[in-house]
Amino acid sequence: MSVSQLAREIRESATLRLNEAARLLRERGEPVIHLGAGEPKSKVPFDAILSSSVKLRSADIRYTPTEGIPSLIQAIIRYTEENYNKVIGPENVIVSSGAKQALYNLMMTIINPQDEVIIPAPYWVSYPEIVKMVYGIPVIVRAEDGRFQPRMEDITQAVSSYTKAIIINSPNNPSGAVYSEDFIAEIVEFCEKKDIYLIMDDIYHKLVFDGKIAVPCYKYAKDNSDSSKLIVINGVSKMYAMTGFRIGWTIANRKIITAMINVSAQNTSCPSVVSQAAATGALNGVQSSVESLRLTLENNRNIMVNELKSFSGVKIVPPDGTFYCLPDFRAYHMSSNDLSHFLLEKALVVTVPGSEFGLEGYLRLSYCGSVKDITEGIARIKWALDPESPNEIYIGDRKLRRDWK
Ligand code: PMP
Repeated sequence: MSVSQLAREIRESATLRLNEAARLLRERGEPVIHLGAGEPKSKVPFDAILSSSVKLRSADIRYTPTEGIPSLIQAIIRYTEENYNKVIGPENVIVSSGAKQALYNLMMTIINPQDEVIIPAPYWVSYPEIVKMVYGIPVIVRAEDGRFQPRMEDITQAVSSYTKAIIINSPNNPSGAVYSEDFIAEIVEFCEKKDIYLIMDDIYHKLVFDGKIAVPCYKYAKDNSDSSKLIVINGVSKMYAMTGFRIGWTIANRKIITAMINVSAQNTSCPSVVSQAAATGALNGVQSSVESLRLTLENNRNIMVNELKSFSGVKIVPPDGTFYCLPDFRAYHMSSNDLSHFLLEKALVVTVPGSEFGLEGYLRLSYCGSVKDITEGIARIKWALDPESPNEIYIGDRKLRRDWK
């Protein structure tokens, strides 16, 4: 039996693999702490539940227009005006089954084989794979050592005549960094001048701390015409803790949206109407859950950063947003993959190796779980790595001994 060359080249999703490893260990009764998670634990907003259950109870569950139901499109138009100060029309919006599918269908729409897409590292694991899945070439641009925001000159140097798009994710998964306003202004100007698509993945744009804001690209756009090359991806997964509903969207010029509707029509027809009803409810409903999630995450971030700061071998740049941080563990001289496996085996803590995000020697740690998980998780990591810590530790009612150096 053979699978395609393309399928062979696509990497397994490390985060999903780790979720599975953690689930199996938990099933065996092991007291695993999951610091690898990519979704908030808070409840879905009541308005989302109400509106999807009304739809379900109608027992009239059909296909919808490929681009999404009109009420959701209207809600996205209003959201864009309120949050981005940008007026758009229904011809500028398409709803997809998650921001991930939005990105995939967008790439299908704009990338020709061998076109290059610039991706600053550290990056979300799926970007390079999605680019490869449409036969494009991911071009990774690294930030200077110890920094998470690329320099504009490094991006411009990586641009070639094949460059079709640049993907910016701020606040960033995995680092939690919010890119500076100057950087956003420069990159918008650069892309407009060079006629390159600028794709802003704004999925975490509401989850920012310390009064910062993730500056919208539109603020610096000079070309507000229908040929604008700015594209914004967003969705309900993170801000409303609605990962299971799978609703995301794309805002772009009419030509791109029209072509994306054809792509989408041929691969999924439309996102589930029940999920679209839920997303409409969330966007039109009471917004307090977003602020309360943001505050919880900010508090969790503070706790995690404090715990990590007391760890002599680890360097940490405090994240400005999201629910991840990316501490530097290079002092322990292990590959991030070996380190992540070591911590799972010895301390029963799930972490994600930085190599998955293009940054070797780092680990991505999530703080979207409970405060207890954060403090205990970091205490266990410290115990496993720091020779100064006591030789024995209790995990659940089991006493573990450190028998390694
Ligand atoms: N972009 C980034 C940066 C993400 O972290 C994620 C989810 N991990 C997504 C997009 C996809 O989100 P969705 O659940 O809407 O597909």
